[in-house]
Amino acid sequence: MNECTFSPSSCHINLSALTRNFFRMGDPAGLLPVIKSDAYGHGLMPVARALDKAGALNFAVGTVSEACALRKAGFHQKIVPLLGAQTLEEWTLSFALHITTPVVDMDSLKRAAHCCPDHMTFPIAIACNTGMGRLGFSVEDMPDLLEALHRYPMLVPELAFSHLACADMPSEEAYTFAQEERFVSMTNALRAFFPDLSRSLCNSAAYASAGEDRFELARPGITLYGGNPFVGTPYADKASDFEWVMSVCAPILQVRALRSGESVSYGRTFTATHDMKAAVIGIGYASGFDRGLSNACDVLIHGRRCHQIGRVCMGMIMADVTGVGAVEPGDLAWILGGDPQPGQRIITAQEMADALGTISYEVLCRFGMSNQRIYH
Ligand SMILES: *Cc1c(COP(=O)(O)O)cnc(C)c1O
Repeated sequence: MNECTFSPSSCHINLSALTRNFFRMGDPAGLLPVIKSDAYGHGLMPVARALDKAGALNFAVGTVSEACALRKAGFHQKIVPLLGAQTLEEWTLSFALHITTPVVDMDSLKRAAHCCPDHMTFPIAIACNTGMGRLGFSVEDMPDLLEALHRYPMLVPELAFSHLACADMPSEEAYTFAQEERFVSMTNALRAFFPDLSRSLCNSAAYASAGEDRFELARPGITLYGGNPFVGTPYADKASDFEWVMSVCAPILQVRALRSGESVSYGRTFTATHDMKAAVIGIGYASGFDRGLSNACDVLIHGRRCHQIGRVCMGMIMADVTGVGAVEPGDLAWILGGDPQPGQRIITAQEMADALGTISYEVLCRFGMSNQRIYH
């Protein structure tokens, strides 16, 4: 490596697990896998390469920049940047690289038309707001939208998509059905003129629970990376057979005796109540280990769960390794994943998310983006 690194911790990305997760989702022709935000922290290019080998025909990314990077790297798939294009430069690049660019309102539709030269065509995606209150045209915009699409025949709508606000909440099923109804009515109006338009509504949760009713393209994200959007709900079983793709580890820097009454780290939030042994581990909040996890999570050392103790520092954490045997500097502590001994469990992004009051998505993005990544 020729760049300096600020943390000895690393992210390990298991591309075989990613591929198996993708295969579990069925026919690639019905999938628009979501690899936005650097593939949820797993790395855009390696993830795209693995999915390409597995037969992916479409990719959803976040920015036009991600879309262009993929196209320039030679990916031939349909690529949809979910955030749309903002600057004139982005619109021009999207057109030049045949990126299926979302139009979200009349203004962006006009920009798309104006950057497409005469007698050429530009593939677009129609973003529909059906109840997420985010990007897209609403039901009442349909007459104007249809009129504009006739006025700008160079724009070729390839896809109409919408996003569900509560797909992962079985208790909000009525809201999800209402969104779906709105989506059907909007896309029926569009398909009267553009019969080849594909429809995409389902994220991971909706895809896992929808049965056959998934429209042409589903947009699974978190399940690709092993997360279960239904965790903690009565539907938890519907998306429980995906494997975590990311593991995180960090070396033990020192093992120290901690005598009864001695405290650990800033603010003295942990004090030994008996003679203990503590390991100092080379990862901290600068590398994605949220300070909110102080005294609230485990790490896996020698295959055994050890409680993290004391405040999380910028580049270090401490763990209780009393009774774990011959733990030495240089041994690895697994922050996510690990190789558990019988009767022990891997550390999951979900349990960390639960401890933090967030979702596994955020945990994965953070670790992935603030550590060197190693691919297997
Ligand atoms: C992130 C995202 C998805 C994927 O959602 P998951 O819950 O990860 O499956 C799908 N569609 C849009 C528009 C998104 O922003």
